[in-house]
Amino acid sequence: MFTKRIKCGHCNQINDARFYQLNETRITKPVPDAGIARLNHPSSKTVHGTDMLEAAAYGFCSMCSYPTLLLVEVERNWFNTLLSKKEARGEFFGGTKLSIKLQYPEPAQILIDKSWPDRVAAFYQDAKAATEDDRFSTAIGAIAAGACMEQALKALGATGKNMVSMIDDLANKTVITNTLRDWAHQVRLLRNNAAHEGTASEAELIEMIAFIEIFLEVTFTIPHRIQARTVSTTT
Ligand SMILES: [Zn+2]
Repeated sequence: MFTKRIKCGHCNQINDARFYQLNETRITKPVPDAGIARLNHPSSKTVHGTDMLEAAAYGFCSMCSYPTLLLVEVERNWFNTLLSKKEARGEFFGGTKLSIKLQYPEPAQILIDKSWPDRVAAFYQDAKAATEDDRFSTAIGAIAAGACMEQALKALGATGKNMVSMIDDLANKTVITNTLRDWAHQVRLLRNNAAHEGTASEAELIEMIAFIEIFLEVTFTIPHRIQARTVSTTT
């Protein structure tokens, strides 16, 4: 057995899944002197050159126990080590040496609209990851959500020395409606709580993300779509 960190296609949680099977499918990058290495170390199970192999692995999510199939790329050395350790101990934590080429079922992707500025999208992904990955606390997620909002305000041309004045500035310039303004302040307050008190519940983080999605849809996605349509109808 070995473990590999995956995002489960069933429950969508990032976890160290347990894999019990590893079967070679084909050599993807043969290395010319791999055969020589094999001749020089005929008794070693682990030194066989550095061919890259594609291999199939079959395992189970440690959160929901549902099965996952992987197609991975792995060095022949490591492939053999995994197999020999499996025989020797029945267990081996070597999954980090495998790179995943395909996963079935696939995990849900975090949807980023291409109209969102890069820094907005990056913080959005961080906030979203905190809802799925136990390594990040909900407070960290809430801080990322606040940073996402702040970057969005800046990208919309807000001026002011802090988030309070930036949000109000955009509302005064009618870039955002009063409803969006009030919700943006709510995100700001939840972010402050997370940053200064270290607290944010999972429900609060999910609400922040849901609001940010609406905010970004209204301020970036829809204007971008309208602009694209206007250009295509006038040319
Ligand atoms: Zn799962």
